[in-house]
Amino acid sequence: MSRRYLIAGNWKMNKTPSEGHELAAGIGQVVKKEESVEVVVCPTFIALDRVSQAIEGTAVKLGAQNLYPKASGAYTGEISAEMLRAVFAKYVILGHSERREYFSESDSFINEKVKFALENLLHPILCIGETLEQREAGQTLDVVKTQLLGGLGGVSKEALNNVVIAYEPVWAIGTGKTATPEMAQEVHAFIRQLLTEAYDESAAQKVRVLYGGSMKPANAAELLAQEDIDGGLIGGASLEVNSFCDLIEAAKNAP
Ligand code: PEP
Repeated sequence: MSRRYLIAGNWKMNKTPSEGHELAAGIGQVVKKEESVEVVVCPTFIALDRVSQAIEGTAVKLGAQNLYPKASGAYTGEISAEMLRAVFAKYVILGHSERREYFSESDSFINEKVKFALENLLHPILCIGETLEQREAGQTLDVVKTQLLGGLGGVSKEALNNVVIAYEPVWAIGTGKTATPEMAQEVHAFIRQLLTEAYDESAAQKVRVLYGGSMKPANAAELLAQEDIDGGLIGGASLEVNSFCDLIEAAKNAP
């Protein structure tokens, strides 16, 4: 089964609206039309609108970094799915390890968000991954299983088609340490196996499973060559046109 590669930039708390506009316009210059690789940028909420304008008419798609799972109302500081759709966001990152760690987000809360995103026509990028402590204690597969099945609880087989999974070992995020291609492939294959058991083979084969954690032009080719790695969720290397576009190129050249 051939899955379309997806390269998504998670800008985190970086770039003002005008800086974001400039970065997105630079990426849009390169990704003018739909190609074999799908490209998404995920700026901060305040930059979404400017970035949306910058990528208009290009093949770059827009994603957000979070949402609140209610339609509207008294939720100070939060943002709704409708607001994201209003600026033409298509994707939303959910369950990022930084939100799990700094904002104490639980699997059940993340699951609410995943379901809410799907009901509101957004494609969740559900992030899962173990900490260094958990890896050293031999708990990687257990953690990944709990977070994956917890995040996807109640998601139907039809809706699963609109979900992207990002495996991001926490110890590799922003640290310069990358999982070896073999380490990453082992977990990606495990994720696909879990999806096969929870849904079925054909549904599992369609889901894109991204790798995230210090992916950069120097290590992308060998990661993307792995059978079950279908793209990358990129932090640091997504903040410059050249490095991000080199990653898109690596995905285009991947087998
Ligand atoms: C991320 O936070 O999603 C990420 C993968 O960051 P980095 O590429 O900087 O490790």
